Amino acid sequence: MAAVNWYPLPVASSEAGGRVFADLMRLAEVVEPGQPGWTRRVFTPEYLQSRELVWELMVSSGLEVRRDPAGNLIGTLRGTDAGLPALVLGSHTDTVAGGGRFDGPCGVMAAIEAVRRIREGGVRPRRTVWVVDFLGEEPNDFGISCVGSRAAAGHLSREHLQLVDRGGRTLAEALAQMGGDPDRIAEARWRAGAASAYLELHVEQGARLEEAARRLAVVTAIAGIHRAEIRLEGRADHAGTTPMDRRRDALLAAAEVSLEVERLGRRKGLGVATVGRLELEPNSPNVVAERATLIAEYRSGDRGWLSATDELLQELVQKVPARRGVRGQLTWLSREDPTVCSEELRSVLRASAREIGEEPLELASWAGHDAVQVATACPVAMLFVPSRGGRSHCPEEWTDPEQVEVGTRALAAAATRLAG
Ligand SMILES: [Zn+2]
Repeated sequence: MAAVNWYPLPVASSEAGGRVFADLMRLAEVVEPGQPGWTRRVFTPEYLQSRELVWELMVSSGLEVRRDPAGNLIGTLRGTDAGLPALVLGSHTDTVAGGGRFDGPCGVMAAIEAVRRIREGGVRPRRTVWVVDFLGEEPNDFGISCVGSRAAAGHLSREHLQLVDRGGRTLAEALAQMGGDPDRIAEARWRAGAASAYLELHVEQGARLEEAARRLAVVTAIAGIHRAEIRLEGRADHAGTTPMDRRRDALLAAAEVSLEVERLGRRKGLGVATVGRLELEPNSPNVVAERATLIAEYRSGDRGWLSATDELLQELVQKVPARRGVRGQLTWLSREDPTVCSEELRSVLRASAREIGEEPLELASWAGHDAVQVATACPVAMLFVPSRGGRSHCPEEWTDPEQVEVGTRALAAAATRLAG
């Protein structure tokens, strides 16, 4: 067996709970100058610099650290049985522009702390534990999110690496600047059976925990997202000389379609639906709109709801505009299935929450996470801690230190159970 870096950590005399929060606040000091909030976007010098801190924290917690060809930081705590697949804990440390301090870093810092607590427990686990800080989870100028976890799952293609940002830089070049090695990207893929399970702690980014006055949730599924472009073809006419009953108004058809999409999103309380983009031609105050193009997007953790919504949407795109003499045409942009969290891992998370005196909610996640990519490599499950006021992707994003601590304790308890 390779070099063993196991040695138990003495239990810190200072309040253990304060450590994760202190680490989070230290990381939050490394932000892009001149940007609002706590901005630390992937492929910036500040992001690269911040990961030196993550690296240091991993090392001081007894992890062997390496950077894989996709730029992921992977800290390894070797178990006693090298033949067992590893338990993986992780999240991301990049943010959106104008983002907060918790979306992502909370999960990475809690994972590092979970390893510290395993070591302070003094019993070396049988299973190897990896702590992963995945590169670039948030969307970037290359139009791709979850760069690192995508590579770990073997889904980062040569075509992806050739994507170009506004400055003309390829994703491959950007990855190299982050210490990655795009020529060896295939080696970032976890070999089959390398990982036994993936656990990710994350802030809820919604207000359901707060409203229920709970501190923890076990995620049931991560919503699948379907997006369709709907083109509506009417007729351009003079806004003065064309009587109201002779018009084929694409804008009004788009308005009706949008209201119907809202209605679809309200069905059964199982999903959400949005029209967030609408383009008009000729978009002129004295011309009846000839063409409208909108994008309908809907999300659900329930596969059946999504496919039923697909059918209803197709139907309404034929019927609703036709009432106005407008032709509707639908093109699917993407249809991603929900990611269902492992029932077995969820029960471990529930038991771990109860072990520390918390009764967790069961929630679906409406935002995407690295876990979606990782789910194709091994079973996954997630824990949510509260977001004050449900705010996220904004500077006001906040989770109380006690809530971070509760999440960390539950994660550490689950990791202890799963690593044996
Ligand atoms: Zn996140």
